[in-house]
Amino acid sequence: MSELHHLSTQQLITGLQAKQFSSLDLTEHFIKRIDALDSKINSFITHTSETARAQAQAADEMRAQGDKRPLLGVPMAHKDIFCTQGVLTTCGSKMLHNFVSPYSATIVTNIDKAGMISLGKLNMDEFAMGSDSSSSYYGAVHNPWNLEHVPGGSSGGSASAIAAGFIPLATASDTGGSIRQPASFCGLTGIKPTYGRVSRFGMIAYASSLDQAGSLGRSAKDCAYLLQPMIGHDPRDATSIKHDMPNYVQDINEAEAQAGDKPLAGLRIGVAKEYFSEGLNAEVDQLVRAALQQYEDLGATVVEVNITDPEITLATYYMLAPAEASSNLSRFDGVRFGYRCDNPKDLIDLYTRSRSEGFGPEVQRRILMGTYSLSAGYFDAYYIKAQKIRRLIIKDFDDAFAHCDVIASPTAPTAAYKLSENLDPATMYLGDVYTIGVNLAGLPALSQPVGLTAAGLPVGLQLIGQHWQESKLLTTAHLFQQRTDHHLQHSAIAKETV
Ligand code: GLN
Repeated sequence: MSELHHLSTQQLITGLQAKQFSSLDLTEHFIKRIDALDSKINSFITHTSETARAQAQAADEMRAQGDKRPLLGVPMAHKDIFCTQGVLTTCGSKMLHNFVSPYSATIVTNIDKAGMISLGKLNMDEFAMGSDSSSSYYGAVHNPWNLEHVPGGSSGGSASAIAAGFIPLATASDTGGSIRQPASFCGLTGIKPTYGRVSRFGMIAYASSLDQAGSLGRSAKDCAYLLQPMIGHDPRDATSIKHDMPNYVQDINEAEAQAGDKPLAGLRIGVAKEYFSEGLNAEVDQLVRAALQQYEDLGATVVEVNITDPEITLATYYMLAPAEASSNLSRFDGVRFGYRCDNPKDLIDLYTRSRSEGFGPEVQRRILMGTYSLSAGYFDAYYIKAQKIRRLIIKDFDDAFAHCDVIASPTAPTAAYKLSENLDPATMYLGDVYTIGVNLAGLPALSQPVGLTAAGLPVGLQLIGQHWQESKLLTTAHLFQQRTDHHLQHSAIAKETV
């Protein structure tokens, strides 16, 4: 049997059922790897190894007594944006360096109920603002494919931990690409569901009209397994929506059972020239086009569609997301929880110094930009105008979907860059150009690996679906992955044995 950390979720489940290994064996295997190798990656902020061991033992006993929950005893970890009762929840910030949440996010509770074992909390850009996981108060995260490179962000801890073979699955959040872009940089599959599909209760808010939780794994089927317990209506989140409850793994299995030698016959893939614009790196362009050719070989047809110019979308996002952030982050004031400055002179001094000392530079920049565009005199010119353009972006996607079933694009314009490049903010924002439209329109989208650059760094292809069609995206990517091996490549750290 290959190393346990190379197994798919399906293989982990089958192995547990067949008693080839126990949940405790798996948990010990992953803890050992984290202890030996995470000093190179910095993917975890908090370890919960002791509770994980106890939970794994309990899971093994429950399984022996006939408990049939499929994910029972399968290890995972949470992005540190999700509140976990009794466990430190920092959101990558000094502001929450001492915040032990009194309650758990709905998705954390649901994943617990599925019987999964959490190994801890994963590093991220501070308050999920960023694209390379370098803005964390707990130190930058490194890419397991090449330690000099960034893992993407903001869910860089989630992605790097899977790519390093520290956990098979992780939760993550995506406001403008934070699941898909790290998936692309780390050679993983990651899905951002339709807005409203997954509860936001207990997920620390960045931009509430854009934030959505999702799953990261090595394959589409792995993502399907973890997404399943996350979805569903939650009365504690007013934006969560009652909708049909698909069974993603079953859908994948049925599609596979029906697949002939042209498994994707009939699928129309929309390709927009706007997504293959000037700033696109030539190697990324070539790998994404080669993957589209592979899709065609599997029976899909490529059709040309038009979407809003991504530069307009980018400007719209960077107007709206900071505006919402400035409002959401006003709750961190040093009074009831989180960081508080020493010896405040008075209330204003307490607010001002707690916020200036507790928030890092990128978060302060967003709060300033957002507060500016929401102030009297600028509100109509910036915020309202951006809201109107958002409406047009949604319409352009609707029009495009009249001609195709899914839309494909590069996930990001480049592969992972070097941490030492230390991008200025505006250049970093440009890297989000292909992912943010999806959040503005509330659509589901995934990123899947489609090969390596000459320097050995992964590249991702984004598939965008219509509202509620996560299943279509997951089955499409799965049928592709059944016949290709991009998702089976291992990073340098994953190849290390301990
Ligand atoms: N990089 C984008 C930003 O900084 C998206 C982040 C995210 O999806 N959380 O806003």
